[in-house]
Amino acid sequence: MNVGIVGAGLAGLAAGCELAGHGHRVTLFEKRPFAGGKTYTFTDSETGDVTDNGQHVFMHCTTEYTSFLRKLGTLHLARRQKRLRAPVFGPQGRRSVIAAAPLPAPFHLLPSFVAYKHLGVRSKLRVGRLLAAVHRMREDERLGLWEISFDAWLRDHGQRDEEIGRFWDFLLLPTLNARSSEVAASDALFVVREGFLASSKSAAIGLAKDGLDTLHVAPAIGYIEARGGTVELSSDVRRIDADGNRAAAVFADGTRREFDAVVCATGHRQALNLLPSSVTEDPAFGALALMESAPIINLHCWFDRPVASFSMAAFVDSELQWVFNRSRLSDERDAGREQLVVSLSGAQRYMAMDKGELERHFIPILRKALPGSAQAKLIRFVAIKEPEATFVPAPGLRRPPNSTRIVNLVVAGAYTATGWPATMESAVRSGNAAARAINVVCQGARK
Ligand SMILES: Cc1cc2nc3c(=O)[nH]c(=O)nc-3n(C[C@H](O)[C@H](O)[C@H](O)COP(=O)(O)OP(=O)(O)OC[C@H]3O[C@@H](n4cnc5c(N)ncnc54)[C@H](O)[C@@H]3O)c2cc1C
Repeated sequence: MNVGIVGAGLAGLAAGCELAGHGHRVTLFEKRPFAGGKTYTFTDSETGDVTDNGQHVFMHCTTEYTSFLRKLGTLHLARRQKRLRAPVFGPQGRRSVIAAAPLPAPFHLLPSFVAYKHLGVRSKLRVGRLLAAVHRMREDERLGLWEISFDAWLRDHGQRDEEIGRFWDFLLLPTLNARSSEVAASDALFVVREGFLASSKSAAIGLAKDGLDTLHVAPAIGYIEARGGTVELSSDVRRIDADGNRAAAVFADGTRREFDAVVCATGHRQALNLLPSSVTEDPAFGALALMESAPIINLHCWFDRPVASFSMAAFVDSELQWVFNRSRLSDERDAGREQLVVSLSGAQRYMAMDKGELERHFIPILRKALPGSAQAKLIRFVAIKEPEATFVPAPGLRRPPNSTRIVNLVVAGAYTATGWPATMESAVRSGNAAARAINVVCQGARK
């Protein structure tokens, strides 16, 4: 079949690879002059360093993203922990470690939790009791909690401000890009169970050594092209038409490109504008108009010498959240200088600040947290704001499916009903599911 895919983010690329691998002729249209969507890479003009728009992390439990890298032959280009281990700095530089021990779940977290310095003993007991209950929870019980906020659920289960701020939100902010008051309990509990409690390995972190472009974007394009497909950049689709037999992408100049089937693999806001009204008016797609987005800001800071003693670190009671040391994580960096990336999730409060304000606000905080930076000179500062980094899995939200009422029009994107938060894993899962839906259409057409 001839399949058109609108959007060359990770969902579109994953769908494209899967479909091209099944022998379909794939054409991807991407509005921007580069592919990758929310996972793009650029070369910094001053330092020459290859840098991602934002630090992306995956975990051992994100199995479809890992399989995607395996299929592309690039898994070796990721730096992967065997088990979770990361330092956590508190005020006055107090250092603790979150680590998973090689023990059966949920006991793998026990040694580091007992030694953890950023929670009081009573708080630890309250958190520990609830973690044990979450581990025992039935899956249908979790799924039933989709209309209540996680914050309300936590308070119903005896959690107080200290536990919510210093433990639960500390886990959720980087994984859901939102705080417990903003998200459904079912989604938050999915992250806690799947990401942290499922096994001693599930939370182990993986990152691109030298950028997401070499890890998945360019290899995915190569994979599609090697199987007869094409990726057309700077192609802004304005409308998608489909009637079950033929489907078409319609461009700004009125040009129509006809296909047997189309996958709409844009973000949720663009999908709302592109899809025919018979799809957007379907109650199953009602969430498209309701979904909120949350921003992420990444601050890329280059110092003229090494300043940090870690590859990555989390910060509690600090605006820094997570700091990644790209110079240590990469295989190809100039050992003289050091690039740190401060990753700010749920960054609404900083969105109105310009680059200068962000630099004046954050560099003193960073220097205070890193005593080794006292003599170092900041040689470059780049702030990248992504206003629509993720959708917010709000209480009561029903995410849309892949299949629409029109058999040859399928939807893909991290926001669809994969069960996963807005992650690379969700995007790949959704792309794979969209490809399976097209394969079903194809089998039906052959009969
Ligand atoms: C700064 C940042 C940090 C993140 N950190 C992590 C992380 O650590 N771990 C993790 O797993 N996830 C992370 N994410 C989330 C992850 O990147 C996304 O969930 C995922 O990449 C979304 O992929 P997608 O294909 O669904 O959507 P997108 O990446 O948004 O792709 C949609 C594509 O469609 C294109 N498009 C839109 N309209 C049109 C049109 N009319 N015509 C043609 N093309 C169009 C867009 O240009 C885009 O390329 C992060 C996101 C950001 C922004």
